[in-house]
Amino acid sequence: MVTTGELYLLVVTVMALVAFAAAIPVLLDIAREGRERLREGPVSPVEGADEGDGDDGVRCRHCGTVNEGEYAYCEECSQQL
Ligand SMILES: [Zn+2]
Repeated sequence: MVTTGELYLLVVTVMALVAFAAAIPVLLDIAREGRERLREGPVSPVEGADEGDGDDGVRCRHCGTVNEGEYAYCEECSQQL
């Protein structure tokens, strides 16, 4: 004789198993995407405005120092780039 409690436990267990089985493909997808992202490495930042010459960085108008990256002020003379 199956009691209500046992029936409830059975239903809950089956539902949990079904939910788990449904979640497996999603989890595998997430894991695969994560591995691909790690293999590709971080996305390179978008190139900023070309104020300097070339892609070495921004050349200071005041002292000629090339500042790498997208600094707003010269690292040499502290003037605005
Ligand atoms: Zn400078």
